[in-house]
Amino acid sequence: MSLSLIGRSIKASATLRLNEIAAILREKGEPVIHLGGGEPKSKAPLEALVAASNLINSGEVRYTPADGIPQLKKAVIRYTEEFYDRLVAPENIIVSSGAKQAIMVCLQAIINPQEEVIFPAPYWVSYPEMVKLCGGVPVPVFPEDGTFYPRLQDIEERVTSYTKAIIINSPNNPTGAMYSEQFIAEIVEFCEKRGLYLIMDDIYHRLIFDGRKPINFYKFAKDLSENSKLILVNGVSKMYAMTGFRIGWAVANKKLVEAMTNIQAHQTSGPPVVTQVAAAAALNGPQTQVESLRITLENNRNILLERLNAFKGVRAFKPDGTFYCFADFSYYMKDSIKLSQFLLDKVRVLTVPGIEFGLDGWLRLSTCGSVKDITEGIERIKWALDPDSPNELYIGERKLIRDWL
Ligand code: PMP
Repeated sequence: MSLSLIGRSIKASATLRLNEIAAILREKGEPVIHLGGGEPKSKAPLEALVAASNLINSGEVRYTPADGIPQLKKAVIRYTEEFYDRLVAPENIIVSSGAKQAIMVCLQAIINPQEEVIFPAPYWVSYPEMVKLCGGVPVPVFPEDGTFYPRLQDIEERVTSYTKAIIINSPNNPTGAMYSEQFIAEIVEFCEKRGLYLIMDDIYHRLIFDGRKPINFYKFAKDLSENSKLILVNGVSKMYAMTGFRIGWAVANKKLVEAMTNIQAHQTSGPPVVTQVAAAAALNGPQTQVESLRITLENNRNILLERLNAFKGVRAFKPDGTFYCFADFSYYMKDSIKLSQFLLDKVRVLTVPGIEFGLDGWLRLSTCGSVKDITEGIERIKWALDPDSPNELYIGERKLIRDWL
């Protein structure tokens, strides 16, 4: 079979593949602990469920405008006013099938073949592949000081005449690092000065800890006219536990939104109307659920960190937000794909190899599950790796004997 260059060059989505593996193993009755997940376990807000089921019951489930229904755009306008102190027009908004599609159509609308897109590393698995899908060149940038907090100079050094856009995701998947106001201010100023697009992926912006407040990047912009190249991406997947609804959006200048809409119109048309009304209801409804998710995640982070810090040889980065924790396991195994597979085979704990995010030797562990999942998951990992652990481990009724250390 002959596949296209793109068909051959795009990698499978590691995180989606892991979800499938977990589901298959669970179906076979295996006691899998999924610490690889990127979705909250809580239910979608009741208002969202009621709105969706009312529409389904009406039987009036039709195509929508390619850029989203007015009702949801109105909710996004209100959200943008509340959290970003900015009043935008409906023509500044495109609703997509997830923040993922919003980023994808945005890149398709701005990137020419050979053009470069810079993003800090470790990075969300989809950024490099999305850039490649546009024929562009992904340019991941590791902070030179070895931290997970990039400085402007790290990025500045990688800018060439081919650079078209910078993607910033804060708090970051996979590290949970939330970048400082100063860095966000500098990057906005830099992009404005150099005429670069800045895509601000704010999908986790309210899931932050230790009293932090979401950062509004528009605050630092000098030019918020229709010439602005600032693009805001957000969605309901993470904050409202609505991953399966597949609703995200972008806010950008009208010309860019129009181009993105034209692309989306031929790609998928507008997102499903049922989930758009649900997303509007979630955005307009009481926000207590977002806060209770945030509190749960902060508590889970504290528990996970405490367990990891008590784990000899493991160095965990303290997340400022999100539902991930990134930890250095290279003391035990340098190849993160092998390590992740080993943990799945031996103790049925699912983790995501750091190499998928650009950094080998590390694993991404999720705090989305229950406290029991977290504590038992770490206990199993410790048992599998630490030679000082006892030789036997019980998983339910099943007795495991360690014969590999
Ligand atoms: N950006 C980042 C950083 C993410 O982690 C994710 C989801 N894993 C997305 C975007 C896409 O979210 P959505 O479900 O809205 O497509």
